[in-house]
Amino acid sequence: MAASRDIQDERHPELVWGARTDVGHARPHNEDSYADVAPLFVVCDGMGGHEAGEVASAIAVNVIADEAPIALDDTALGAAVEAANQAVIGASAQGVGKEGMGCTATAVQIFGEKMAVAHVGDSRCYLLRAGQIVRITHDHSYVEELVDAGEITADEARVHPARSIITRALGSDPEMYADHFTLDVEKGDRIILCSDGLSSMIADEAIEDVALSCPTPQNCADALVQAALDAGGFDNVTVIVVDIARDAAVERHARQLARGAFSILLGMVGLMIAALVGFSLIVGKSWFVGSENGEVAIYKGIHGDFFGLNLYELTERTGVVVTDLPDATQKSLQEGIAAASEDDARATVDSYRSQIDIDRQKAADAEEAAASATHDEGAPTTANPTTPAPVTPQGETTDDAQAATAEQAGGEDRG
Ligand code: MG
Repeated sequence: MAASRDIQDERHPELVWGARTDVGHARPHNEDSYADVAPLFVVCDGMGGHEAGEVASAIAVNVIADEAPIALDDTALGAAVEAANQAVIGASAQGVGKEGMGCTATAVQIFGEKMAVAHVGDSRCYLLRAGQIVRITHDHSYVEELVDAGEITADEARVHPARSIITRALGSDPEMYADHFTLDVEKGDRIILCSDGLSSMIADEAIEDVALSCPTPQNCADALVQAALDAGGFDNVTVIVVDIARDAAVERHARQLARGAFSILLGMVGLMIAALVGFSLIVGKSWFVGSENGEVAIYKGIHGDFFGLNLYELTERTGVVVTDLPDATQKSLQEGIAAASEDDARATVDSYRSQIDIDRQKAADAEEAAASATHDEGAPTTANPTTPAPVTPQGETTDDAQAATAEQAGGEDRG
């Protein structure tokens, strides 16, 4: 069955893959089978006709999946393919499928930056790296032997009348052995497994072109199968594409962090908007009295700022000089004196004016009193006709006392 989208397994975050199989235009049924159970990927191409090839390939895929090692071990993976061979032979002997049924098997297991490969037949595994495709499996076929001998080219092999003759396959020889090896893979590598329904229909260069033009593994698998169909689709065609993602886990974690950061940012923006709305409501209803260039002024808003933004606006300069006010009032004005309303602010300013007037009047009175005192201290001590006579302790004037004294003295003289 064709997958509809790329697949990624939490247990293998570095791998992303897609797969597709198609019966093609010429065959009545699909004898290919595949498994994409990360980190194992298998393609088997069945042979033997209806109710044989597909049975053999299905048995092989299931046995390889069951027997594949749980860690990197290409020898063990090769043994799994050889066990599949025994299973196909055994099934045929027991009447399952048809006698003589068989299949190819190309299996890979990817662990980190190593890939184990086990292979029998003419299904293939390609590695696309740095823009170039390399076939990493060797076909066990008659035409491949001709190519190896230099008798025909690879392009000639694709259309050679004997191209379907397989020299090694599962299902016939109990002593069959699988090629197996391990190679290094890198982040950014693309692994392509396919049945010969792809490689016999389009050249390796065309596979490379399609693989390079497709952004995702599933997109690539779909496009390669379609290319084989467009080229004729004479055989069943199966393709698995596995991408070794560039720091997939890190990228996924980064995406999660980015999503989290975005949510936090949205929350912060929401809070800031709410705060600004709240501030604007508060600021719009608040008043205070402060100073502006040495002058008492009335402001609308709150004394202070929010991230550098003033939370107030000047509404009136009052003409009242700050330095005319007591030191404590001057200090309070620097910090802003809250007012319940504009009228309240004006009342405060009016009280300052009154206070200043009172203080000025007191100062004037004090100055006048001081001036008078200074004048009295500077006047002559001789009696002045206009100056009231000093009063004695008995309440009599000095003149009366003196007259009385003289009268008393005269009386004595007469007496
Ligand atoms: Mg085939």
